[in-house]
Amino acid sequence: MAMPTTPATVTRFAPSPTGLLHPGHAHSALFAARAAGPDGRFLLRIEDIDAARCRPEFAEAILTDLAWLGLAWDVPVRRQSEHMADYRAALARLDAMGLLYPCFCTRKDIQDEVARAGYAPHGPDGVLYPGTCRGLSEAERADLIAAGEPHAFRLDMEAAVTRAGPLTFTDRARGTIPVDGQSCGDVVLARKDVPTSYHLAVTVDDAVQGVTLVTRGEDLLHASHIHRILQALLGLPVPEYRHHGLLAGPDGKRFAKRDRSLTLRALREAGRSPADARAMAGFADWANTAI
Ligand code: GLU
Repeated sequence: MAMPTTPATVTRFAPSPTGLLHPGHAHSALFAARAAGPDGRFLLRIEDIDAARCRPEFAEAILTDLAWLGLAWDVPVRRQSEHMADYRAALARLDAMGLLYPCFCTRKDIQDEVARAGYAPHGPDGVLYPGTCRGLSEAERADLIAAGEPHAFRLDMEAAVTRAGPLTFTDRARGTIPVDGQSCGDVVLARKDVPTSYHLAVTVDDAVQGVTLVTRGEDLLHASHIHRILQALLGLPVPEYRHHGLLAGPDGKRFAKRDRSLTLRALREAGRSPADARAMAGFADWANTAI
């Protein structure tokens, strides 16, 4: 009798090509590749929606650096800039549910509003949006749009949470986590300059790519709450999660793009081996590491 087959784990590494990879990225990539397990699939996604900050040469460098590290990924590589139609369609569905509103605020407007209100509830990404544009009438919105005022689209989080109902997601290291959307506020789902945002693009892509296990740094744990709500609203499959700890550099601080001397390219050019780089990225015994 044939044994029922467990679907293979599908993981991904999803860097933004805004600079060269450092050992912190290498940790994330190696972690995702190992989490796929011997029978799973490891995918690569280039998160290049931000045309002003992303550069094709950094995307090329990502492929070169990952191959040098010893990683192989399933093709094709998904590049978000080529899939704006997918994000527009998801945005249109949320709009049709009445869950979005246009936001005309600049950063300065938000700061001024927060100063005026005299209090500033904070979320994981800083000050929560004070909701200024949520209260505009349809006529005011139409006038501003007709006048060509640049606008983003925000998720009306309270309405979204009400519609989605109580939700949880599973983090393999942390267990079942109740979703708390309100603490993230009315997040942007389409920016003024791009018809999507990190949250919307990631949620759509993980579904399109059939990702079953999302691995990423614990600095993005809060984002999983938002993504779980979007999955519920859009009827998308729900992956498992595994948020890993963040790697510290020799100075005890998190690796960041500002540490130019510690990029994978710089290490390679200084004659360090892929095994050295993997060790710096927390995978000294790569061949025998299982996650
Ligand atoms: N593109 C994001 C970053 O570079 C990671 C996205 C994710 O793993 O969900 O931080």
